[in-house]
Amino acid sequence: MTKRVWFPYAQMKRIADPIEIVEARGCLLKTKDGRELIDAVSSWWCAIHGYNHPEINAALAEQAGRFSHVMLGGLTHEPAERLAGELVRVTPAGLNHVFYSDSGSVAVEIALKMAIQFFRNRGQREKSRFVAVRKAYHGDTAGCMAVCDPDDGMHALFDGVFPKQFFVDTPRGGIDPPTEIVAEDAAQLDTLLSQHHEQVAAFVIEPLLQAAGGFHVHSPTYLREARRICDKYGVLLIFDEVATGFGRTGTMFAAGRAGVTPDILTVGKALTGGVLGHAATLATSKVFDAFYDDDKSKAFMHGPTFMGNALACAVALKSLEIFEREGYLEKVARIEAILNERLPAVSSPRIRGIRVIGACGAIEVDEPEAYAGLQTFAAKRGVWLRPFDRNVYAMPPYVIETDQLHRVIDAIEEWFSNA
Ligand SMILES: *Cc1c(COP(=O)(O)O)cnc(C)c1O
Repeated sequence: MTKRVWFPYAQMKRIADPIEIVEARGCLLKTKDGRELIDAVSSWWCAIHGYNHPEINAALAEQAGRFSHVMLGGLTHEPAERLAGELVRVTPAGLNHVFYSDSGSVAVEIALKMAIQFFRNRGQREKSRFVAVRKAYHGDTAGCMAVCDPDDGMHALFDGVFPKQFFVDTPRGGIDPPTEIVAEDAAQLDTLLSQHHEQVAAFVIEPLLQAAGGFHVHSPTYLREARRICDKYGVLLIFDEVATGFGRTGTMFAAGRAGVTPDILTVGKALTGGVLGHAATLATSKVFDAFYDDDKSKAFMHGPTFMGNALACAVALKSLEIFEREGYLEKVARIEAILNERLPAVSSPRIRGIRVIGACGAIEVDEPEAYAGLQTFAAKRGVWLRPFDRNVYAMPPYVIETDQLHRVIDAIEEWFSNA
């Protein structure tokens, strides 16, 4: 390894040699030394169709044969227009406007900026702060870092650099907690907003599954309570569905399972089926209308160079078409059933929690050291896993074959039985 590529989330002095991939097909990553690894990570949760899908490749080539990219400033094109219509159709009713960007972090930045300007345009300049949830992960850029977990999160090092935001505790009790637990957690949000709502623009949450902060699951009831409390105090509600969007938790969007329409919703990761980087921030008409004016200064001054990239939009359209035509939500339900049947049977004194929701299963241990060596151990068994911190997880492509999924779980199970 040359060290020319500076790898993510890694101490470059101690990093193990990354595995070189030369080809990928279906759920298999083919390595330079001739091995095949079942991808249990979906390349950071985006490759929902696996790799090298012929229809997606064809859609990409077809669009490239016309044009790959034109700026969205003053120009438009059919893929961007059609995809906006499709995103409005598949997200909860009321989210009628789509602002494109090129990554999940930027989609979240846009959501935060949009929320602040929403209030500025209405003359409420003091509403410029956010409430977020402990254990949240919303991306790696400056504004996002400030709404990630302030203590254990990977950005704690930057404490004091970015504006301090407010935090509520991670909602407890999983997907179906006792009523009094939800009431207590909701009361905490209510109390915080009762004291600070005059400064708060929005409450931001990854609905149902706080993913990269450690796979914490909360209830649809909590989200309905959050909607009610935000309305009570005149605070916008932002759902960051960059990880949960497009079926990961079992419904097309987590918001749908809760029956909640947030004011702003972000999508990314699986939007293009993992083929190209693209993202979007959706807003309700209420939000959009605060910008819609004869007054130029009320316009939203934002415009990533690659927003609405035609290749990305064409691929996203094809990805969604396949998703719906092939009944991907049933594939997610099948993965969930297998994870639910097998993960709880994995046992070790080191295990602190086992969580399954949709096509996501995670096992949390007492100390990250419990997973030292697991990646190599799994790779020897033909499985690609990437444990982080105290969690190992499977978030496979939705097209994973049943025996491939069993092999992923076998590797995790064997790790614990050998340990
Ligand atoms: C991954 C992720 C992001 C950041 O997306 P990038 O495309 O990596 O910038 C934001 N929010 C959530 C919930 C995520 O899981």
